Amino acid sequence: MSIFYHKKSLGQNFLHNKKILEKICRIQDLNNKHVVEVGPGKGFLTEFLLKENPKNLTVIEKDKRLKPFLEKIKKRYPNKLHILFDDALKLDLTNLTKNKIILVGNLPYNIATTLILNWIRLNKNITSLVLMIQKEVAQRLYAKAGTSFYSRISVLIQANATVTEKIEVSSENFFPKPKVNSAVVEIIPYKRNFDYDNLDKTLKICFLHRRKILRNNLKNLSEENKVKIYESGVNLSLRPQDLNHKEYIKLSKILFS
Ligand code: SAM
Repeated sequence: MSIFYHKKSLGQNFLHNKKILEKICRIQDLNNKHVVEVGPGKGFLTEFLLKENPKNLTVIEKDKRLKPFLEKIKKRYPNKLHILFDDALKLDLTNLTKNKIILVGNLPYNIATTLILNWIRLNKNITSLVLMIQKEVAQRLYAKAGTSFYSRISVLIQANATVTEKIEVSSENFFPKPKVNSAVVEIIPYKRNFDYDNLDKTLKICFLHRRKILRNNLKNLSEENKVKIYESGVNLSLRPQDLNHKEYIKLSKILFS
């Protein structure tokens, strides 16, 4: 095989610590489950996932130069491993299978948030996600209202899922070594009882100016909506980072129903 040049644009920092790879695969019980791995790279995590005996494992990789590495693993697991060369940003995972799936991946950092929000929005057959992401992004996902990392993304995720940090991973465990540290998070989606896009629209308006109180971000409210919001108990004298996801869901139902 010729020398492999890592592409920064594709977030190609490969995890080589076997203990961490093993731990990631044991966060969820994968035995006999349908598992999808996004961004397998040379297949380091793929090998460990296969050892957990999933019913099948589908890997989605954008970079076709990685074909020889992944084909080599496929030879040992011809019926279990399915390799797709595709862009995970453009692929609707729910079209891959009707079965419930567990999604695992050491995600490219530059597209991690977009990928997670796409999957959470779908909210169909993904029962859990185990993802390695940049530590700061992880902090944003589970940040509580009123804290510095709390943002629009925190609300969107927490309205749709529980997020737990499972492993902290320092940059030395990757090759090439990235500039940032990482964390593995487990995300378990809930059943949704509100409209995702309406919540998203509400958050875009409310978080437009973090320093302004909500009443000033929500200009042109009708008298009727002012009354409804008052009755709902949502306090518009607070700043956007002070409301929790339940209050934002109430607000989105009033603004866009
Ligand atoms: N899983 C390997 C590991 O743990 O060492 C590699 C992880 S590396 C951080 C991210 C991988 O995602 C790379 O192999 C990269 O080529 C792939 N990738 C980047 N963008 C992608 C996309 N849009 N769709 C699918 N794979 C992508």
